[in-house]
Amino acid sequence: MSKLLSNRRGSVLLIVLFAMVGVLGMGAMVIDGGQLYFESAKLQTAVDAAALAGARTLVQGVTAAEQLAFSVAQQNGVNPAELTVTIDSTAGTVTASAVRTVFFGLAKVLGFESAPVSATATAGSYSVSGVSGLAPLGVIWQDFVIGAQYDLKVGASGDTGNYGALALGGTGSSNYRDNLKYGYNTMVRVNDLLPTEPGNISGPTTEAINWLLNECSHGCVFDDHRVGCTRILLVPIINGLPNGRGEVTVLGFASFFMEEYLGDAFVRGRFIEYNVQGEVGPSGDYGVKTVKLSN
Ligand SMILES: [Zn+2]
Repeated sequence: MSKLLSNRRGSVLLIVLFAMVGVLGMGAMVIDGGQLYFESAKLQTAVDAAALAGARTLVQGVTAAEQLAFSVAQQNGVNPAELTVTIDSTAGTVTASAVRTVFFGLAKVLGFESAPVSATATAGSYSVSGVSGLAPLGVIWQDFVIGAQYDLKVGASGDTGNYGALALGGTGSSNYRDNLKYGYNTMVRVNDLLPTEPGNISGPTTEAINWLLNECSHGCVFDDHRVGCTRILLVPIINGLPNGRGEVTVLGFASFFMEEYLGDAFVRGRFIEYNVQGEVGPSGDYGVKTVKLSN
């Protein structure tokens, strides 16, 4: 009888022990598992931001891209020792990977000390096949060199009746002036046909250019300009200018840092590489890119 009782007591003890281990295990799953999930989500956010920042900076070179990726990851709580940044400059991609060891609390009782969590993200800088916010100035294709000056609008020196002005979303000088000031707020794509706006349109050009120069209040210069500065003009690259009112074909897009106004509706800018929001797709590569996570 007593043997039976003690046996029974033993099995009760055993059941309690198993139950405790079960409760501990469940607690460990909830607390330490939660911690693992939290750390892995934090890492993913950090590597996403680092890869995007790196890809966005790739136009300034591999070193600049790598430095920014590290600094953005650090701002997001990733230790440089946890981070690896790989840059493929041919493909235009930046991959950021982070590995972190998470030390357990409750699960230690069950013999689990720690577990690694990791996250990886790749972002690319791609040619754009469509953008909005264009300046209504068609620039004829040539082999653009970064920092070199180009005519964005040729002033009174045109010989076809066209001086580089485009009629985006309508004709007339006030529409042209507003497009030059604010950017044409409709998606334009490679191979689109755009109508020209013949004439020098001196008054509206002068008004818009002076306004754009004035809106830049931070003293931007070509070598040191802010993202989104009003002196940066995003323009369509075109095949050539027709005689009189006609159409031009969009080959791609380029950005220029506008030089001081020269008068006579003559607009010049220095070629820059630049990131915009746009549609990814095949396009003539004229230095305008868009940046996206690729996985
Ligand atoms: Zn500026």
